[in-house]
Amino acid sequence: MNTKHAFSLGVTHISKDPGSTLSFDLVGYIDDLKVGSSYVGRNTEIEVSGIAEAVHGGILISGHIVTSWGGECRRCLEDASGRIDVSVRELFERQDKDSGPSLDTDTYRYVGEVLDLRDMVKDQVLLELPIAPLCKTECRGLCVHCGVNLNQAQCDCELSIRDPRWNVLDALLDKDR
Ligand SMILES: [Zn+2]
Ligand SMILES: [Zn+2]
Repeated sequence: MNTKHAFSLGVTHISKDPGSTLSFDLVGYIDDLKVGSSYVGRNTEIEVSGIAEAVHGGILISGHIVTSWGGECRRCLEDASGRIDVSVRELFERQDKDSGPSLDTDTYRYVGEVLDLRDMVKDQVLLELPIAPLCKTECRGLCVHCGVNLNQAQCDCELSIRDPRWNVLDALLDKDR
């Protein structure tokens, strides 16, 4: 597979005929997809599939982006991972070769008969990556005293490491009872 062009979509067959559609299913890889401690690896497949529809002035892309992410759990620092499956609906505007850069950066653009979906895929995946991932929602994290992973073991810190000054308070509380 030519990864360089993995997210390129030729639209020659529909571009002159508004309302006509083309289904597509592309798989590729993108470097540098990272937010906080979570990322999509450079060797992780990213699949984008859906329908391209010719509309006035461009091509409307509707579909799904599917991939998986890895990272470090914010509580226990072990590996965390998950799946991304996000819906997309974006308009790609056709741009004339000599019209120069547009001030409007909110829409994706293309020249000629080929759309490059890479920027759209990148933008959407970055939005979906968890900034502070968890290995599982009920992760118990590390003990703040001894560092043991509380998902794997139980420590006695809560009982044994207590500030001796609490003993005085305990005594007072006991007296009140
Ligand atoms: Zn964890
Ligand atoms: Zn502990």
